[in-house]
Amino acid sequence: MAPKPQPGSTKPRAESLQPVWSRPVQFVKGIGPKRAQVLHELGIETAADLLLNLPRRYLDRSNIARIGALLEGQTVTVVGKVAMTGVIKGGKSRLEVTLTDGTGELSLLWFAGWRFLQETLKKGVILAASGTVTYFHGYQILHPELEILEDWDADDLTHTGRVIPVYPSGEVWRAARLDSRGLRRVIKPLIDGAETSIIDYLPQAVRDSHAQPSLPWSISHAHFPETAADAEQARVRLAFDEFFFLELTLARRRAAIDRLQDGRACATAGTWARQIVDSLPWKLTKAQRRVIGEITADLRSDRPMRRLLQGDVGSGKTVVAALAMVQWAEAGAQTALLVPTEILAEQHHHTLTRLLAPCGITPVLLTGSISSQERKTRQKLIASGEARVIIGTHALLSEGVDFHDLGMVVIDEQHRFGVAQRQKLVDKGRRPDLLIMTATPIPRTLALTFYGDLDVSVLDEKPPQLGRVRTAWRGEDAREKIYDYIQEAGSRGDLTYIVYPLVELSEKSDLRAATDGYEALCQRFPQRRVGLVHGRVKSVDRLATMERFYHGDLDILVSTTVIEVGVDAPAARLMVIENAERFGLSQLHQLRGRIGRGPGESICVLMLGSEPSVIARERLEVMCRTNDGFEIAETDLRLRGPGEFLGTRQHGLPEFQIAELIRDAILVEPARKAAWEILQSDPQLTAPDHQLLCEEWERRFTARTELLEAG
Ligand code: ADP
Ligand code: MG
Repeated sequence: MAPKPQPGSTKPRAESLQPVWSRPVQFVKGIGPKRAQVLHELGIETAADLLLNLPRRYLDRSNIARIGALLEGQTVTVVGKVAMTGVIKGGKSRLEVTLTDGTGELSLLWFAGWRFLQETLKKGVILAASGTVTYFHGYQILHPELEILEDWDADDLTHTGRVIPVYPSGEVWRAARLDSRGLRRVIKPLIDGAETSIIDYLPQAVRDSHAQPSLPWSISHAHFPETAADAEQARVRLAFDEFFFLELTLARRRAAIDRLQDGRACATAGTWARQIVDSLPWKLTKAQRRVIGEITADLRSDRPMRRLLQGDVGSGKTVVAALAMVQWAEAGAQTALLVPTEILAEQHHHTLTRLLAPCGITPVLLTGSISSQERKTRQKLIASGEARVIIGTHALLSEGVDFHDLGMVVIDEQHRFGVAQRQKLVDKGRRPDLLIMTATPIPRTLALTFYGDLDVSVLDEKPPQLGRVRTAWRGEDAREKIYDYIQEAGSRGDLTYIVYPLVELSEKSDLRAATDGYEALCQRFPQRRVGLVHGRVKSVDRLATMERFYHGDLDILVSTTVIEVGVDAPAARLMVIENAERFGLSQLHQLRGRIGRGPGESICVLMLGSEPSVIARERLEVMCRTNDGFEIAETDLRLRGPGEFLGTRQHGLPEFQIAELIRDAILVEPARKAAWEILQSDPQLTAPDHQLLCEEWERRFTARTELLEAG
């Protein structure tokens, strides 16, 4: 991996086709080594980085309020000249600045932090002030947000048609004396010559077919637009580029995998898989059969499989994984299933032991909690190849775990793992197949963006035996009614989950709530058998309790979110989620997936512990309205934003600087298409037309080469 260049160490590269664009910031007029050092900390190394640091907003004359027309309570931006600045001493000293714009006077007031402002806000300075207007012996704004505008035409404040960029600010920027005003001064000269000095790296043909403006135009209009529409068009072009280069990276990674013909074909008659299918008490769904077909085709090919299996909770992913794993086992090789939690590992081990029994395969479990002696024994089984099917947690990734012949890696609940982790396991074999499973139904845009290098299979059908789930939210006043439900469920022989939130920060009090809840239920339902599980219960005991619940030896299971993944009790038909307003949307959906796993109707009650916020209310409403994982995922994505939704950092993929996944979703497919088309016509990007493109790609990704290698 290329080290990140230090400022000053990079001279303008002699061979650069874009001398202005790729110029190290240090050599940009008005920057110099000191500021370059600070910018380096912000990840800004070149003029291009500086130019792609777009304004946070614009001051548009057409949106500027006239002081003479202000009303109390309005939130406005006004532009004016400082007429007077004074410090008023008293109980609470304050700075008062009088601003005039020819239509009236406005006071700006600071009660704190005004000492350095006093220096700046001299009489005659032109500035834009934003805030909410109050009235006290005249109109005033308290602690307004300020922009100093030395370049605004002072004599004609009402003139329209000029837009001033306002840049992101912060300590670091200010330390480099690069507040908005400073940045405008540095950027303006760069922009002025842009039409000739900055060359577009996107081939004309791509720009034309996607109706995107040129790079120089976009850069100038993103910084100094004439109109808001221009600014937006410019931003869109630059967002398109971000998607484009990411897709180019994914496409190349994919192409590199496709070229590898030294993967191994897994050729078997499929006898064992058929034995398993025959032993199942139910028929596979059409979706399951389709997906198994897709996977089997991959296994038979000598191109390593890279496949994402997407299926909502309860769509039956486990048996699909088992049928893939057993094919490698029949071929004599090993497969490893990596899962995020011990409890899930144990559950999968249990399920797979039953599923694989007809072929005489005994899966081996490897987790952090098994004794070191037992662990050694199991590691030996794995190293010798005797263990064909291995299930484990992060423990599988550790140094001492070596495989004899790893044919395939399966990853469950993919969102819990980073790219690096999955790679670690893959590296323990020689180009093994890779199957990644996720219950987070990823909206299509996200799937394309983040998994563009994977093939995708979707389990879009739930097994018919699974029942319907009705969901409702209730307040504390309904508690008696809920107890009646629990009572009735018990009399029918149905099982009940009571789930409490567990937030790390308040872990103690949360555990307390679960424990108290457990005791209250024991008292309330003396004739029912109640169990309690949470993260602090030893894992053997936890598993034992869950097993009892699964077998119907318990009626009620009180738990924290430890049951979120995996545990499967078909007779569970009631779930009460306490303090539901505190849960995330995807989490609520995952939890609800624990019921409705057998025939008949199930009920999920979302209990409110406090008045829900607007967003919490939206989460609850979606839950009540739909059971469709995709709709829930879309909503969750919208409410939380993509970074949190996916744990973007974890994925090792760059966060976008300009593009916003939701707002710019429409750009993803075209950008992807453009990238694939270019690589198809010129896989090595050697055409003269593509030289600039290569250079830009490299510029954007040097610090992130691992992206090109992972996979
Ligand atoms: P998930 O996709 O959430 O991992 P599982 O693999 O745990 O789902 O399957 C959910 C439940 O559905 C399990 O109890 C499993 O045995 C059952 N199941 C899976 N496939 C079918 C099917 N085709 N018909 C009936 N039940 C099925
Ligand atoms: Mg599962």
